[in-house]
Amino acid sequence: MSVPPANPLVNDPPAWLVEGAPHLWLPYTQMQTTPMALPVVKTEGVRLTLADGRELIDGTSSWWTAAHGYNHPHIREAVTAQLQKMPHVMLGGLAHEQACRLATRLSDLLPGDLGHVFFSESGSVSVEIAMKMAVQYWINNGKTGRTRFVAFKGGYHGDTLATMSVCDPDEGMHTLFKGAIAEQLIAELPTDDEKAAALDAFLGAHGHRVAAVLTEPLVQGAGGMRFHDAETLRRLRRLCDKHDLLLIHDEIFVGFGRTGTMFACEAAGIVPDIVTLSKALTGGTMALAATIARAPVFEAFLGEDGGRALMHGPTYTGNALACAAANASLDLFEREPRLAQVAAIAGQLERELAPARNLPGVRDVRVKGAIGVIELERMGDLNAIKRRFIEEGVFIRPFGNIVYTTPPLTIGTADLGRLTAAMLKVTAEIAAA
Ligand code: PLP
Repeated sequence: MSVPPANPLVNDPPAWLVEGAPHLWLPYTQMQTTPMALPVVKTEGVRLTLADGRELIDGTSSWWTAAHGYNHPHIREAVTAQLQKMPHVMLGGLAHEQACRLATRLSDLLPGDLGHVFFSESGSVSVEIAMKMAVQYWINNGKTGRTRFVAFKGGYHGDTLATMSVCDPDEGMHTLFKGAIAEQLIAELPTDDEKAAALDAFLGAHGHRVAAVLTEPLVQGAGGMRFHDAETLRRLRRLCDKHDLLLIHDEIFVGFGRTGTMFACEAAGIVPDIVTLSKALTGGTMALAATIARAPVFEAFLGEDGGRALMHGPTYTGNALACAAANASLDLFEREPRLAQVAAIAGQLERELAPARNLPGVRDVRVKGAIGVIELERMGDLNAIKRRFIEEGVFIRPFGNIVYTTPPLTIGTADLGRLTAAMLKVTAEIAAA
C-alpha cells in the first residue's frame, strides 16, 4: 500500500492519520509525492487547530466557504436544533420548513424575478442543473438544436463532466480530457467594446445552436483569480438579450458578499436568467447548492404534460440540516455588517499587499472585495511554498502562479495583517530563489 511521504510539519501524527492516510484519496493531489496532510482537530473563528495544538490563521476559508468564520455558534445551534427534529426528509412529494424558508429568502434577496430555487448538494451539480435547465427551456419552447454553451477563457465551473466542458479547455485543469468531453464554444470575455463586437459577431454566427452563455461574474476564481468589471457583465446581458440567449451567472465563488455586494450581479445592476450558488451558502458548514431561475425559465417547464417537467432530483435535495445552516447563515448576513467588513478587508488588503508590486518576479497585485492576489511570473516548488506558509503560522494555498487570500469575512485587522505579512515574506523568498 502506498503511504504518503512523511510531513516534517506534522509532529507525532495521530493514529487515525497514520492508519487513514493511505486510504484517503485527497482532492487535486499527487498522492505519491505530496506530504501527509495536516491533521486538523478543531476550527474556531479564523483558526485551524492541529493535532499537536498549533494554531494556523486560515487565509482560504476552506475553499471560500466559511464567510462568518468557522463553527459560528448561531449556525451550530441552528443545525443542532434541526438535528433534534429532522435531519433529512426527501423532497419527493414532501416539503419542510427549512427548505421553504430558504427558497423564499433567496428569492427575496436575489434581484428581479429570480424566484424559483432548485437545491442540490454541490456547486458542480448546481451548474449541471443550470445547463440542463437551459437546454430543456429551449426544447419546451419548441426550439431544437440549442444544445451548446458559450463559456469563457479563464473560466472554471466544476469537476463533473458537463461542467468540465465549460471550463477553459486550454489553460484550465481539465485539458487532459479534451476529446472526452463535449465541445463548447469558448470565447473571450467582452472586457472592452472591441471584444464585445467580436462576441456579438460570434453569437450572430453560432447563437442558433446555443442554449446559454455561462459566466463567473466579476472574478474567474479557480482559473487564476482574474477580475473584470461590472460593465463586462452588462455587455453580456445586452448581447444575450440581442441574440435571444439565456444568461447563467455562476455565483458559487462570488456570491454572499465576497466581492463587496451580496451577489455579483447586483454590482452590474443586471438580472441573469439563472444563478448558481453554493460554497458560502451554508457559511461553510454543510454541502448545499442552489440553481435559481427567473419566472420565464420556470414557466417554460409548466403545462399539463409531465414530460415538460425538470427531470432532476438529487437524493439529498433540500437536506434539512443544510437548509437550516443556510438559513442561519442568512440571519448572520442580515444581523451583522458583513459587507462593511468586506470593504474594510479590501482596504487593508490594498494597503498591505501593495509593497509586493516592488518585488522582482511579481507580475500583478490585485484586490477585489475580500480577495487579495499576488500573481507571480512563475511559481516555485508548491509543496515547499505551502510548507513555508505553515511555518509562518498561516494556511494559504497558492496555485498556478497565484498566491492569494480569501479570508473569512469576519477576520480581524491583526489576523489579516499576519496573512498579508506572510504573503509578502514568502513571495519575496520565491522571487529570491
Ligand atoms: N463554480 C465555481 C465558480 C467554483 O468556484 C466552483 C468551485 O470552486 C464550482 C463551480 C464547483 O463547486 P463544487 O466544488 O462545490 O462542485
